[in-house]
Order: sequence, then structure tokens, then C-alpha cells
Amino acid sequence: MKSFLTHLDCTGCDATHSADQLIRLCPDCDKVLYARYDLDSARRETDRDALADRRSDMWRYFEAMPVLDEANIVSLGEGMTPILEAPHLAEAIGATNLVIKDEGQNPTGTFKSRGLSAAVSKAKELGAEGVTIPTAGNAGGALAAYAARAGMDAHVFMPQDALDANKKEVTHAGGTLHLVDGLIGEAGQQSRELAAELGMFDLSTLQEPYRAEGKKTMGYEIAEQCGWTFPDAIIYPTGGGTGVVGIWKAIEELETLGWIDGKRPRFFCVQAEGCQPIVRAFEQGTDHAEPWANAHTVAHGMRVPSAIADYLILNVLRESGGGAIAVSDDDLLDHMRLIARTEGIVVGPEGGATAAAARRLIASGALSSSDHILLLNTGSGLKTPELM
Ligand SMILES: *Cc1c(COP(=O)(O)O)cnc(C)c1O
Ligand SMILES: [Zn+2]
Repeated sequence: MKSFLTHLDCTGCDATHSADQLIRLCPDCDKVLYARYDLDSARRETDRDALADRRSDMWRYFEAMPVLDEANIVSLGEGMTPILEAPHLAEAIGATNLVIKDEGQNPTGTFKSRGLSAAVSKAKELGAEGVTIPTAGNAGGALAAYAARAGMDAHVFMPQDALDANKKEVTHAGGTLHLVDGLIGEAGQQSRELAAELGMFDLSTLQEPYRAEGKKTMGYEIAEQCGWTFPDAIIYPTGGGTGVVGIWKAIEELETLGWIDGKRPRFFCVQAEGCQPIVRAFEQGTDHAEPWANAHTVAHGMRVPSAIADYLILNVLRESGGGAIAVSDDDLLDHMRLIARTEGIVVGPEGGATAAAARRLIASGALSSSDHILLLNTGSGLKTPELM
């Protein structure tokens, strides 16, 4: 397999940068960098039908993955999660054509596996000896696992009140756990300081180019699993928005590859009422989301008061004709239970939020009951037994 990676483009200015170096944000303007590929050549040299013979994980899309030498892939079998029909849940919330992509079936129990598999693989290829990360919980567990597999040191910065499962999965896999008095923003500060001090590489999401490349594979999979089309709408529980910008990037790449030609899906972000910076910015019509004060929700994956890629997320929502909606903790917990009882899928609180959002979007007329709606369940409920 051959990667067609060429360089990095800045999403904020016209700068381009080499992809042969450990680099985080654009040195010129501090905005997010995107990995770019020679997709015109990839289009000539490969065919989507070739995928049939490929490995059955996210690395099957190697043409558009950032690792140049396959030997550097650090994998636990992430990706190729199923898209499950959910007719009973659909009936309960007023939909008729509802599916759930179950990212809870990833190696570390959440879709954070994808981002960290990609980022750790690339960091290894570029010679990083150790890695640090700030996290609301699940990214830390995933990093510890992939770093262990790569033989790298990992330092994880997590809020003090993070969930037990997340703390344990870090230390269990040999990572060093730093508990932080504050939320993910404070953790980010400390993570970057330690990385600078120890000569390690900080993997804060979207502050390095490759976690988004891992999460974008959800877009490739949705297309492939839906017969090279997209559903009408995707509902995404949003924290830093890595998957939102990743899936959108995948759609653009798939069009350039000539692998899809149908219409793009509408994108809806769901957040918790206690932490909804993207919803507020969407409603206010701005392209910057002010940090959310006193952020609180039981759905820690969405407990992200400030997203560095706010301008990219808001652009996806507007360009796709989608939207943003907040749901209460009670509502998302009710729907977490409802999904388990109607479909047998044990989703996490963030997955519960997507069903609560779908119900409200249909009731308000933003979505039609006949729309083909995909809920992205980002993690397994088994990681949050205290919420079951
Ligand atoms: C990190 C996380 C999210 C938010 O993901 P982003 O792509 O950063 O918005 C949602 N759900 C779970 C379970 C998570 O761990
Ligand atoms: Zn720039």
C-alpha cells in the first residue's frame, strides 16, 4: 500500500508546511494544520473496489493516511465498526430510517482509538520518544494503550474528577497519570509545559495534524458501508469537534478521489446544556465560540468548554445545512437507557445525547421523520458503569 501524503496546509493562512517534521499548530498564525495528499494521482492509481482485499480496520484507506511506511503503523484493530439498524429506537423517537454507527466497539471502547492510532503512528515515524496529552478521559486511555504498543512513554493530564475507568486504563497500560485541578483547558496547559520540559511531543487534539486523520476514517467507512453514499444527516456529540472536521475532510477527499458523487450529509452537533459553546456560537451566527463558563455534564466527552477548531466546526454546520442543539443530562441519560432497552446497544452518555437530539430535531421539523439519520455513538456505556 502507498500513502499519497504530500504536505500540510494551514486552515487559517496561506502557509504550507513540510509533513516530515513533528509540528503542531501553524507557526505563522497558530491555526489548525491539515494533512494533504496527492489525491489526483491516487485517483488514477487506485480504485475503491481494491478495498475488498484490504485489512479490515481504518488503515485500509492507506492512500489517504499520513504514515509513509506501513511498518510504522501502531494498531489495535481500530475502525470498521458496524452501522446497526435501529428500528425500535426509531419508532420510539419518531424516526423511520435510523442507524447507529457503534464506535463503542473500538479497541479502547471509544472512537478515540482512531485518532490516537494515527497520531502515535505518525509520531513514531517522525522519531518522537515520548508523548503527552490533555484529555477529558477517553483520549488518555487510548493514548496509554497505543503508546504501550509503540514502546513510547506517555504522560496523561486529566481532570481530577474524571471517571475511574479512564484513570485506571492509563495506569494499567503503564502511562503516567497527572490529575489536574480544572478541566481539559488547564490540562492542556500542563501537558504542553511538560512536553517542552522533557522534549516530548504534545498530542492535544487538532493542535497536531494527525488525530483528525484517524477520526476522518469514520467518513470513509460511512461512505463505504452505505454503498458509497451518505445518510441525509449525521448527529455527532461534540467536544473538540475532531470528528466533525475529520468526517467533513473525508467527504471532500472522497469527492476528489471520485469514490462518491452523491449529496453530502447535513451535520448536527449535539452538546450538553451545561457545556454548549458551539450551540451558542451557531445560534449567534459567529465563527468563534467563546469558552463556556462553569462547564458541567455527566457526558465527559462533551465537557470541552473551548474548541481550538471552532471556526472549522461552525463552517461544517453551516455549509452542510445542519445545526447545533443542546440536551439536558436527564434527557441524554434517559436516551442512553432507551437505546439499550430498544436495541440492546450499550452506548455511553454521549451516544444517548445523539438520540435525544434526533428526537428533538424531528419534533421541531429540522429533520423529517423519513430522513436517513445516522447517530454516531462515540463510546461504550461499559466505560461509565456509574451512569448505567
Ligand atoms: C472525545 C469524545 C467525544 C467528543 O469528540 P470530538 O470529536 O472531540 O468532538 C464524544 N464522545 C466521547 C465518548 C468522547 O470520548
Ligand atoms: Zn497559518
